[in-house]
Amino acid sequence: AADLPHVTDADPTAKALGYVEDASKTTNPKHKAGDACANCQFYSGGPTGYGPCALFPGKSVNAKGWCVSHSPKAG
Ligand code: SF4
Repeated sequence: AADLPHVTDADPTAKALGYVEDASKTTNPKHKAGDACANCQFYSGGPTGYGPCALFPGKSVNAKGWCVSHSPKAG
């Protein structure tokens, strides 16, 4: 998974979902403090670095990233 290309802000899906590499930098009103890819149920990577997201097949997102589809991990 570490070899998957990183999603960039220019990626069409990233734009559609308001994805940012750094959740602390988003100005999206849907972002809640503390929400990041690392605690999203669609993320399957480690707590740091990059990992796969079910919404970006074939790519990897930043553990510190965020998008409007964020959904907290169960548990
Ligand atoms: Fe990150 Fe979750 Fe959005 Fe995927 S769906 S980019 S893991 S916040």
